[in-house]
Amino acid sequence: MYGKIKEHLQNELHSIREAGLYKNERLIVSPQDAVIRLASGQEVLNFCANNYLGLSNHPALIKAAEDALHSHGYGMSSVRFICGTTNLHKTLEQKITEFFGTEDTILYAACFDANGGIFEPLFSEEDAIISDSLNHASIIDGVRLSKAKRFRYLNADMKDLEAQLILVKDARFKIIVTDGVFSMDGNVAPLDQIHILAKKYDALIMVDECHSAGVVGDTGRGVTELFNLRGEVDIITGTLGKAFGGALGGFTTGRKEVIELLRQRSRPYLFSNSLPPAVVNAGIKMFDMMAETSDLQDKLHHNTKYFISRMIDAGFDIKPTKSAICAVMLYDAKLSQNFAARLLEEGIYVIGFYYPVVAQGQARIRVQLSAAHLPAHLDQALAAFIKVGKSLGVIR
Ligand SMILES: *Cc1c(COP(=O)(O)O)cnc(C)c1O
Repeated sequence: MYGKIKEHLQNELHSIREAGLYKNERLIVSPQDAVIRLASGQEVLNFCANNYLGLSNHPALIKAAEDALHSHGYGMSSVRFICGTTNLHKTLEQKITEFFGTEDTILYAACFDANGGIFEPLFSEEDAIISDSLNHASIIDGVRLSKAKRFRYLNADMKDLEAQLILVKDARFKIIVTDGVFSMDGNVAPLDQIHILAKKYDALIMVDECHSAGVVGDTGRGVTELFNLRGEVDIITGTLGKAFGGALGGFTTGRKEVIELLRQRSRPYLFSNSLPPAVVNAGIKMFDMMAETSDLQDKLHHNTKYFISRMIDAGFDIKPTKSAICAVMLYDAKLSQNFAARLLEEGIYVIGFYYPVVAQGQARIRVQLSAAHLPAHLDQALAAFIKVGKSLGVIR
């Protein structure tokens, strides 16, 4: 039986390799942090993790996880509604609600599941979902699972969004869906303008805050803080797998009735296991820390400004960003791979992205800043960028 498809799969794999698109995993043998150790023994500065607040290896979160292992055990062996809900799960949902200034929250195993389980229960044939063209894969998949009519607008293009809204003006319900921060450029969704259009055309708004929660806004409350729209967005999804500790877990937070219906109908919530107590308790600790101080956001914003301004001074072409993502534009795919390899030799771990991950001719290196980066780390990375940039003729 396997013979025929085996050959087919081998051919597929071969063509992925031929196209230069084969993804290899790099082995890390240390905790996730500003400095990581690779399996080769090499220690490198990490500029490609979503560890924006430096919490992935934070002692307070490790302690909270340990405490919960002892108080609530290792696994839940159940979905939420059968016997998978502890007091910790309810507390974490409450903390997320307070953090975003929403009405209620539902936890998922990952944001991929939150986005996968949001559209199908809420929208059907008579409804329209209008989605930014650069939205995350999990939104695209989630939209596909619903029967609603689908529309797309060019990334952050408000003229195009308005054109789509006019097209769907007779739909029963309309929802505009956008990432808060787009992961390849680091640009934020123009939520102020989206909000105006949503009002004008009677549409709901959903924002995926995966790359913006914890990061964007003075206190890290995300794009709703940046645009002073706290409580004005109907649905927010996010992850505990990026700034918020980096382990795993997703959530949907927003209007009370939306969340209540998701608990009844959302398939990844109903048919997938409950988050383990250790992860949940670390999440609670994390939101308690966020409620006390925004020191980590201050550090992250300072690091980001410092790094980007020095890169621009050095002559690099940097995409405008309002997040902790800095896209160093190189335009050429091969150059982006060479550049990243040379940086690794200099002890700087970054990734070069090229088509089809980004548009044709838009190859780049994506740098992700963290509150965990020390000034010396930033200076070492800057020196390496300048050295390699000069030797590859990217800057003078
Ligand atoms: C990372 C990411 C996700 C997926 O989050 P997980 O919790 O890792 O599943 C969803 N949406 C966006 C915009 C993301 O960046």
